[in-house]
Amino acid sequence: MKAHDGMYIDGAWRDADGRDAIDVVNPADEQVIGRVPAGTALDVDTAVRAARAALPGWAATPPAERAARLAALRDVLVARKDEIAGTVTAELGSPLKFSQAVHAGAPIAVAGSYAELAATYAFEEKVGNSVVHHEPIGVVGAITPWNYPLHQIVAKVAPALAAGCTVVLKPAEDTPLTAQLFAEAVHEAGVPAGVFNLVTGLGPVAGQALAEHPGVDLVSFTGSTAVGRRIGAAAGAAVKRVALELGGKSANVILPSADLAKAVNVGVANVMSNSGQTCSAWTRMLVHRDQYDEAVELAAEAAAKYGDRIGPLVNAKQQERVRGYIDKGVAEGARLVAGGPEAPRERGYYVSPTVFADVTEGMTIAQEEIFGPVLSILRYDDEDDALRIANGTVYGLAGAVWAGDEAEAVAFARRMDTGQVDINGGRFNPLAPFGGYKQSGVGRELGLHGLTEYLQTKSLQF
Ligand code: NAP
Ligand code: MG
Repeated sequence: MKAHDGMYIDGAWRDADGRDAIDVVNPADEQVIGRVPAGTALDVDTAVRAARAALPGWAATPPAERAARLAALRDVLVARKDEIAGTVTAELGSPLKFSQAVHAGAPIAVAGSYAELAATYAFEEKVGNSVVHHEPIGVVGAITPWNYPLHQIVAKVAPALAAGCTVVLKPAEDTPLTAQLFAEAVHEAGVPAGVFNLVTGLGPVAGQALAEHPGVDLVSFTGSTAVGRRIGAAAGAAVKRVALELGGKSANVILPSADLAKAVNVGVANVMSNSGQTCSAWTRMLVHRDQYDEAVELAAEAAAKYGDRIGPLVNAKQQERVRGYIDKGVAEGARLVAGGPEAPRERGYYVSPTVFADVTEGMTIAQEEIFGPVLSILRYDDEDDALRIANGTVYGLAGAVWAGDEAEAVAFARRMDTGQVDINGGRFNPLAPFGGYKQSGVGRELGLHGLTEYLQTKSLQF
């Protein structure tokens, strides 16, 4: 795996300030596959200065030209699709087919969507005797996690560039090679120097320096609630914009009229995909008490089939964390019907696809984000009970409702405190606003709503 030993700043790979490096590990076999520099506060400062210097020129670039650069970026990502998939598989551990379809496919779709939006969005509108200009917010500090490493980068950088903002990215320490590949793609696409800058490094060092830098106008963060809270507090104190995409504990509500087998099978697949490392995963399955035993049996069977098909977790710490949650589920009285805490392989950070039955609302595994291949199945008495349970966590990122009749599912979904709901297995839409109610976050990504996050208005009166 090719790794750069510098930072991509102001249009070129430059020597890092310090000598510290981060080893990149393949979680499937625990081998070191590359090293990248660990950025310091000085590297961040250099990158922010480059982004500030490039801002006036990029902000004044006609949207059609910004759109052309984004279309070129999408084309480079398409041309390098196999390399992207291979890199994500090497540093995240996801099966290659999944990396091709999702880890490479989704960011291509999102980059394409912003090429189109940049070309068509009305950056100027007339309101009565005013002309309202939608102007870029400025320099964006983007801090991204490892679970969908390229998607989460593109979901921030593409709308920021479309809006006319410039960006400094601090990607997750576990998946920096994907971020370096993205920087190469931005360069190849002809995006002017300084418009996009990359500083690899550790969260509490480079990430914190970026979040607190006075030259950053908007911080966009995706990751844990603990870190998000701190970033939000710092942004509040500095009176700067912040977007937070945090965790979830989404409910998959199976109403009695639903096709039970389909709802359970799709629900299990949703949780196991990416080894459960998905913020929007439907980790709580809610089933009517009369269908509960059948659903549990179906889910256990479905999970057993995933045995060899899911990848490892991203690192040893996440593996330990997830196994700790499984132990806790057993200790609190939930019933294991598939998987368990034992590591299924000697090498690699694997966790068995795990299903818990007899989970009740108060249990830790029904409330906290586990971020691993672990499903909790809860019982409800009637529709109001199901709604109370579905809404009964601090999170509200996603969810699903299944019913025999679409209108019945929609009526239920309208009462859920959550940002997205898939109706009877509805497909992912890269243009639909994505983001959380309650403690799942602040702000929206993707599509038009994702673009406006990076804009501020100026009204001229006539
Ligand atoms: P995390 O620490 O919040 O990591 C997210 C990003 O923030 C990474 O780039 C990280 O850098 C950076 N970061 C860490 N501390 C920072 C700080 N003090 N200031 C600025 N940036 C900082 O998340 P994690 O440790 O990788 O995962 C822990 C848990 O978070 C997971 O188990 C899961 O529950 C949740 N999570 C949620 C999402 C999501 O999509 N919402 C994604 C990932 C994780 P480093 O990579 O160097 O830590
Ligand atoms: Mg971390």
